[in-house]
Amino acid sequence: MALYAAAASVLAGVENRQGSIKGLVYSSSFQNVKQLYALVCETQRYSAVLDAVIASAGLLRSEKKLRPHLAKVLVYELLLGKGFRGGGGRWKPLLGRHQARLKAELARLKVHRGVSRNEDLLDVGTKSESVSQVPRFVRVNTLKTCSDDVVDYFKRQGFSYQGRASSLDDLRALKGKHFLLDPLLPELLVFPAQTDLHEHPLYRAGHFILQDKASCLPAMLLAPPPGSHVIDACAAPGNKTSHLAALMKNQGKIFAFDLDAKRLAFMATLLARAGVSCCELAEKDFLAVSPSDPRYRQVHYILLDPSCSGSGMLTRQLEEPGAGTPSKERLCALAGFQQRALCHALSFPSLQRLVYSTCSLCQEENEEVVRDALQQNPGAFRLVPVLPSWPHRGLGTFPGAEHCLRASPETTLTGGFFIAVIERVEVPSSVSQAEALAPDLTPSPAPKRKKRR
Ligand code: SAM
Repeated sequence: MALYAAAASVLAGVENRQGSIKGLVYSSSFQNVKQLYALVCETQRYSAVLDAVIASAGLLRSEKKLRPHLAKVLVYELLLGKGFRGGGGRWKPLLGRHQARLKAELARLKVHRGVSRNEDLLDVGTKSESVSQVPRFVRVNTLKTCSDDVVDYFKRQGFSYQGRASSLDDLRALKGKHFLLDPLLPELLVFPAQTDLHEHPLYRAGHFILQDKASCLPAMLLAPPPGSHVIDACAAPGNKTSHLAALMKNQGKIFAFDLDAKRLAFMATLLARAGVSCCELAEKDFLAVSPSDPRYRQVHYILLDPSCSGSGMLTRQLEEPGAGTPSKERLCALAGFQQRALCHALSFPSLQRLVYSTCSLCQEENEEVVRDALQQNPGAFRLVPVLPSWPHRGLGTFPGAEHCLRASPETTLTGGFFIAVIERVEVPSSVSQAEALAPDLTPSPAPKRKKRR
């Protein structure tokens, strides 16, 4: 096996917890173990930097056949290592096409972190630094107020409004009492990271919700129009439910399920505070909700945000490296449930569009769950290519996985997140509603159904 392929395979094995770097290097068939070991260790050391550069350069989006681990090794060699050893073979021209952009993104990262040497990007605090730089996102609750009124309130309190941001760099540069409108999401205000608004009167009155930007994407991408019937399968504590209700202008019906009575009680309080009136809460196992129940006959939209390892949560990422990493057994149990829940959701007969999301970074809970569910329903559903400008895409583990979205502090200035938008294939119009949403995010009308015979 060639050096780069061997290094990529070891990196993938480490990520999938198949063994340590040393163990996997020695059990590989690559002869020069010393060379392989050094390359893997160095690539791994710069992993977060490489992820950020690859994502912002859009490398995996342009080179669909390039697997993420191999990309990481090659970009390490190109930007940080010794250059392509032995000429680089067929990878050299491929990477050559992206060389200028990759170099520019690395330079930008250094400017942003205020460092001049590559090694300085490796500060022990880098991870926690990027986590602590995630801004404070404020979702205006349109059931109770509007962005203009909230902006005016903050201005009267001495904050300075800078208008709509044009890029993530504007968000990164936020300081002091300045705030912005997010460049992508309507009704999402952005404040500097350390801004604490938990005691703010508008928060206490439910006029805004403190919700990470990545966690606002599922409801926005599901985009149920007013009047629709929606299932929120694993709903508590209900931030996404209240977002759905706001998008639906409290018209229609949200059937919200959760197993946990305490979380549901908390959710009921939050929904009341947010002025949500179109939601029916039920303490129920979603897997036991019957798709043939006539109450769900008109359910065209499902949001599935199941229990997950939470490995992308900012608080977990701040812990000791590895402390928040789930064991293989736990991952397997979680993925099993997620898989069953997704297949169950896809069995609702009137379903047109579904959003699957987790706050996990693990491939087993994300791309693999989606891939398996699609394989179990061959030809019936497809992944919708949403938000083409979003820089961090699904890991290229199966064809179409790049249509999924990933999020992280380094690449999108948010918590770690995964989102897949799935749509029934029989939608008659040539362009799907969710795709139509992608460039401008205008809420769409309900998808048209084929007439049932
Ligand atoms: N969507 C929520 C929000 O945005 O606030 C967060 C959901 S949380 C990630 C997952 C939820 O799924 C937990 O509240 C958990 O109690 C619930 N859950 C786990 N298994 C379930 C099941 N079989 N049926 C319904 N809810 C379940």
